[in-house]
Amino acid sequence: MAVPLSTAQTIDINVARASLQEAGQDAGAGHETRYRLLSALQTTLDAERLLTIFFNEVSTLITISGLRYENESLNLQASLGNTAAHSSSYRLIIQGDQLGELTITRETRFSESELHLFEKLLGNLLCPLRNALIYQAALNASRTDALTGAGNRMALMEALEREISLARRYNQDLALLIMDVDKFKSINDEHGHAAGDRVLKELVRLIGQINRNTDQCFRYGGEEFVVLLSNTSRGGASVIGERLRSAIANMRICAENGPLQLTVSIGSASFCETDTAESLLNRADKAMYQIKQGGGNAIECV
Ligand code: GH3
Ligand code: MG
Ligand code: MG
Repeated sequence: MAVPLSTAQTIDINVARASLQEAGQDAGAGHETRYRLLSALQTTLDAERLLTIFFNEVSTLITISGLRYENESLNLQASLGNTAAHSSSYRLIIQGDQLGELTITRETRFSESELHLFEKLLGNLLCPLRNALIYQAALNASRTDALTGAGNRMALMEALEREISLARRYNQDLALLIMDVDKFKSINDEHGHAAGDRVLKELVRLIGQINRNTDQCFRYGGEEFVVLLSNTSRGGASVIGERLRSAIANMRICAENGPLQLTVSIGSASFCETDTAESLLNRADKAMYQIKQGGGNAIECV
């Protein structure tokens, strides 16, 4: 039975386990095949690699043109092979944990026995996929600042190295902004540390709204943030920086002692051929410091 994309089926581990008992009886899915598939699926904790292994192994038994996978909560997508007219979709669930949605496609309809076999093989993917997703969530957490949800310093350095090599390879523009909250200590002193924390969270939320790419905002230190602007010229960075500065200055945050306002000092640096991650950050930091010396609430581009 070919199942249209809109009608997702649910694969549950208990059903999958039960069906595994009989999977050996199916043509082309004997003990040896299952053992090879299971062994191959134990070799990695990388979700995309796992799906590639699954796709390759299953393709030796059933003709499949393409496989798509999506996990919204972890923002994971994988697309293998080619999309085709006929598809069958499955919502993957293991003991109540949603593992995402998987779709296989090809040009001709899948027969009922092919789908039956595929569903049994899919049962083998669930446990390894759950482990890979747990690992991915832990990796994400290790790169995220717990208070604000922005990337942390480690994530910044990784992203910056990646962006610099892309800028070099494709001769693209790259800029970054370093932003420091002005007189943040006095916000803490006047409104309390909890209100200070809220200010930092609101700041990251606003940066995400304006920049529309929250992945590119990082907490560099206590009340200092870096915004990476890939494919952005010096002029573009200046416009975005000014837009951020002005939106932050106009933001009002409710606090016990009344509405709370803040301003930021921004230093922007544009990538040049000889730059390293450190030199780019240093130039932006120096520019930010100049603004700070002049009283804050402004942007300097170098
Ligand atoms: P400047 O205008 O020169 O930047 O002054 P400032 O007060 O912003 O800078 P300073 O370095 O003197 O103080 C930064 C303050 O940020 C001190 C520290 O307690 C506070 N801070 C750092 N991390 C956090 C945090 O996670 N939450 C809160 N509420 N405060 C923090
Ligand atoms: Mg600071
Ligand atoms: Mg400060």
